[in-house]
Amino acid sequence: LELWHGPTCAFKDMALQILPHLLTRSLKKTADGKTAVILVATSGDTGKAALEGFKDVAGTEMIVFYPENGVSPMQKRQMNTQEGENVCVCAIHGNFDDAQTGVKKIFTDPALKAELAQHNKMFSSANSINWGRLLPQIVYYFSAYLDLVNAKKIKMGDAINVVVPTGNFGNILASYYAKRMGLPVHKFICASNSNNVLTDFIRTGTYDKKRAFYTTISPSMDILVSSNLERLLYHLCGEDTEKLTGWMNALQGGAYTVDAATADAVRALFYGGCCDDKETVEVIRNTFEKDGYLCDTHTAVAVGVYEQYLKETGDNTPAVIASTASPYKFPDSVLDAFDCEKPADPFAEAELLAKLSNTKIPAPITALRTKPVRFENTCAAADMADFVRETVRV
Ligand SMILES: *Cc1c(COP(=O)(O)O)cnc(C)c1O
Repeated sequence: LELWHGPTCAFKDMALQILPHLLTRSLKKTADGKTAVILVATSGDTGKAALEGFKDVAGTEMIVFYPENGVSPMQKRQMNTQEGENVCVCAIHGNFDDAQTGVKKIFTDPALKAELAQHNKMFSSANSINWGRLLPQIVYYFSAYLDLVNAKKIKMGDAINVVVPTGNFGNILASYYAKRMGLPVHKFICASNSNNVLTDFIRTGTYDKKRAFYTTISPSMDILVSSNLERLLYHLCGEDTEKLTGWMNALQGGAYTVDAATADAVRALFYGGCCDDKETVEVIRNTFEKDGYLCDTHTAVAVGVYEQYLKETGDNTPAVIASTASPYKFPDSVLDAFDCEKPADPFAEAELLAKLSNTKIPAPITALRTKPVRFENTCAAADMADFVRETVRV
């Protein structure tokens, strides 16, 4: 299920193209036509997809902060060449956590909030716990199911499995909501990279974030606290908010263990598995050799975990594998699956990949090469609030 044919070649486009319009429509009803100043901290994909979604949307302004040395060259280029009169990008000296902490500080700074209010503006966020991002994602699981029916791969009413490369648990949670709305899903297969906190949780019932953090070749899944899991647990623990709050409070300290009934309910629906970087590259190589299909690093994690699932269970229910990014966003890592010398420039890498795989570079990636760089702002993490003040001119 290739979900990456939008303007930034990532599945996040599916939701972030719609979210701005849901948001501005709601603002008109609930916030006296205030302008929303949307702040985003990104490790790559979210920032660009949000910029494309919000560019020139009336009633919104957007500032994206990314870690100076924490995004791929192609992702940096995507953000720094962004068009639109209401958007702005800034690299910060620090890592993703510094960017995220800085944004959270600004959101909770009462003085800055008051300054914005004087100018009829308010802060908002476009991160993946926003319900406006989950909602559009439910739809494509139904669409994929009906495609399978139309193609006569399944009959209406037959069960399918769903395989999702997972980070913040948004995409796979959307498929769970689809099931609650009637989609016949047998098993949700949750695929992680070396940051396999979800694999362990699904297998044991214990969520433990006290572990090493790995920077992997599937960076959009490098995450230790999957925020949307809380929503799943709410449903599976019998909507017992007191119990849930207890677990989430315990997580502040590092770990929680759910009760046996909830753990069983999770395991009945979900299978968890993981792939490290070496296995991921092997999967890209094998999938291309066997099926002639070129997948990106995130999708490869899903394919690898699905193969583990098949071997372990023999379950031959037809499966939909969510493909979340174009391989051309990560040409350097994808080329590792081909035995070749790699050029230094990312565009030259993309061209070599196109030649070796006989696939086409997506137009939005090709277009980047000639787009002028519009943003060269940098600032210290401590100065992010001042940067916001200057940019929105309050
Ligand atoms: C964001 C992202 C994911 C993870 O999606 P979640 O909804 O956070 O689980 C997977 N792959 C790619 C390419 C992404 O950009």
